[in-house]
Amino acid sequence: MTGVQSESGVLAGDERMLIDGELQQTAGGVMFDVVHPATEQVAGQATDGTVSDMTRAVGAARRAFDTTHWSRDTEFRHHCLVQLADALEAQKERLRRILVTEVGCPISVTGSQIDEPINELRHWAEHGRTFPYEIDNGVHETPLGPARRKIFYEPAGVVGAITPWNVPFYLNIAETMPALMAGNTVVLKPAQLTPWSGSELGRIVAEETDIPPGVFNVVLSNANEVGAALSADPRVDMITFTGSTTTGRAILGAAAPTVKKTLLELGGKSAHIVLDDADLSSALPLAAMMACVMSGQSCILSSRILLPRSRYDEGVDILKASMQGFPIGDPWTPGIMQGPQISATQRAKVLGLIASGVDSGARVVTGGGVPANLPVGYYVQPTLLVDVDPNSPVAQEEIFGPVLAVTAYDSEDEAIGIANNSIYGLSGEVSSGDVDRAVAVARRMRTGNVTINGKSHFGIGSPFGGIKQSGLGRRNGEEGFKEYLESKTVGMPV
Ligand code: NAD
Repeated sequence: MTGVQSESGVLAGDERMLIDGELQQTAGGVMFDVVHPATEQVAGQATDGTVSDMTRAVGAARRAFDTTHWSRDTEFRHHCLVQLADALEAQKERLRRILVTEVGCPISVTGSQIDEPINELRHWAEHGRTFPYEIDNGVHETPLGPARRKIFYEPAGVVGAITPWNVPFYLNIAETMPALMAGNTVVLKPAQLTPWSGSELGRIVAEETDIPPGVFNVVLSNANEVGAALSADPRVDMITFTGSTTTGRAILGAAAPTVKKTLLELGGKSAHIVLDDADLSSALPLAAMMACVMSGQSCILSSRILLPRSRYDEGVDILKASMQGFPIGDPWTPGIMQGPQISATQRAKVLGLIASGVDSGARVVTGGGVPANLPVGYYVQPTLLVDVDPNSPVAQEEIFGPVLAVTAYDSEDEAIGIANNSIYGLSGEVSSGDVDRAVAVARRMRTGNVTINGKSHFGIGSPFGGIKQSGLGRRNGEEGFKEYLESKTVGMPV
């Protein structure tokens, strides 16, 4: 195990990847830097895997699927995943520090990113243990007489998992653990900005569990072509991906020649429809907080706020006060809720979109730039843009920053029309004093998930995913486990 520790808590993760049961460096020892976003300093390095490393990892996963008992031994898989959950639990403070080091997210908000995924791993282990893999489908009349049919649920095969940087440990678990528990073998390709949440998972699998060589592989790389090689490899049966819509399209294209199953969780540009009978004093401070926690780097963030014109000024004032007081700063300081953006590139993108909003007629009510007291680190002020044109880039493109874009509407129909004026359909919110009215509006939103009055749609027990260009398929819930299985119907004599 490698690791560097400083007084601030910065901690480097393992530099190595896991291929066929061996923690290893790429041939030639080429490395890439991992930068701590709060200091802009290099915190450590990771091995820079190649297409050839990916080819070996896929070969190992294929062999493990085709020749070991992994896909058929549910009790053994349960044993291994519980073992892994226990090992992650024992090392979770190390994992937490590595997460803050590579993402820059405040340590105060890491519960949902470290503790919760370990609980979810336990959930999948139990869910997969009791899942009915064989169902009697009854007797059916056929031209050749009656036939009994049984449905067998079987693993998809070799699963390639590609993850983004915004919640890396959580998504590495969310993408790979139901896949493993369902009997698949896996090759994980973590994002280049956050390799360590993946390499640490690989290290712990190798050092602390009985998971056989080849069943779980982690290939680190600074090159997008390595993820592309995974999507295109004919030995891979399924790709599970979370990331941008642009990359999702590329993955669909690469997967098409071999007709791979794909599970895609992509970008979002969700709208929060605030109805005229809403309690603004509870709905809007929460909306502001959600925009700033994780520095706005959340796919389900309701980044478009639609306010009734009759209550527009009142709503803008509440949002302004909430954003101005938001605790932003050093992610290692307890109580800080907003850290830096992940990289200089992401910060430049956020600032560019704010500027484009102003160019298209929006007004900056608070924020709009880099905080004067935080010149080092990739920080962006909590930013409130009002009078936003719903067709402008700032209302149409995913910002992934601590920015809310506010637009006024005159009727419920108009609000729903603005909310649905998007290529995305991941999430959304409605606030209202009348829950039935809010549900009726939610039903008309073209999106996969809706939160009403702050009551979250998101959790392990309920299906989650997008429509339109926000994705294909679902994570979580019963649907989320079945995504990693194929049904096989077998007809037989009665
Ligand atoms: P990204 O699409 O740039 O990268 C994601 C991953 O894809 C990385 O591992 C990257 O190396 C890999 N990749 C890049 N090009 C590839 C290619 N051609 N073939 C295969 N793999 C390739 O996304 P990001 O910037 O890391 O993450 C932010 C995005 O993720 C946002 O759009 C956000 O909305 C989305 N996201 C969605 C969800 C969801 O559940 N819908 C959750 C979190 C993040």
